Amino acid sequence: RKELELVSVTKRYGTTVAVNKISHHFQPSGYACLLGPSGCGKSSTLRMIAGHESVTDGAILLGGTDISHLAPAQRGTAMMFQNYALFPHLSVAENVAFSLKMKGEDKAQRLSKAGEMLELVDLSALGDRLPDQLSGGQQQRVALARALITRPDVLLLDEPLSALDPFLRVRMRGELRKLQRELGISFVHVTHGQDEALALADEIVVMNNAVIEQAGPARDVFNAP
Ligand code: ADP
Ligand code: ADP
Repeated sequence: RKELELVSVTKRYGTTVAVNKISHHFQPSGYACLLGPSGCGKSSTLRMIAGHESVTDGAILLGGTDISHLAPAQRGTAMMFQNYALFPHLSVAENVAFSLKMKGEDKAQRLSKAGEMLELVDLSALGDRLPDQLSGGQQQRVALARALITRPDVLLLDEPLSALDPFLRVRMRGELRKLQRELGISFVHVTHGQDEALALADEIVVMNNAVIEQAGPARDVFNAP
């Protein structure tokens, strides 16, 4: 599995320094949570890894290769968003297969792969529905399947559970954790919830004021003086 490494990564928006020379080597095939208060630079960091935001300075390595200047689809990363961002007029299966259509794969191949992904997230029976015929938790699993169909080395999740009610949130935690283990790829999950990070993470990276304040296994980070 390819390892993700940030090397002195900086993001500036005008005069605002959102991320200030952060370096971190993520544990391969691990579940990492990026934790910290609002405005500390978590989303900017995730968006730079995904390629949705340019890097002002520094490098992002995946398997030793600098991916920081590649287009999002060329990086080996995939991102799942808070608001799911599903296409309302496309069926669930077509939503999942969307990126393959962009890559020019034929319809039979797309639908077969979409079926596999829907099975993975336990939605096999719902491929023909439209997104608004699904519950919030189901829509979120569609968004997961859509990100995973590209077979990324790294899955990036920006506050993926914050739109769910408390009951579903706890259930989805377990599902995310299980999926990460099954797939053996690296997850980097942004949250501002300590309990969420503790429940999910192999590794916690704590950001504050644009820098990494602390990083390590969950029990070490929360027991630190
Ligand atoms: P977090 O995800 O931890 O809430 P962000 O990465 O969203 O932090 O934001 C870090 C800082 O960068 C904040 O001061 C925020 O206002 C600023 N920022 C984020 N995105 C932009 C943007 N597109 N333009 C200008 N400033 C931004
Ligand atoms: P989150 O709360 O999930 O970290 P934000 O509210 O910080 O997200 O950002 C949502 C969107 O607004 C992002 O696209 C970000 O780039 C933009 N944004 C955030 N802060 C600023 C800012 N100070 N000026 C301009 N755009 C911003």
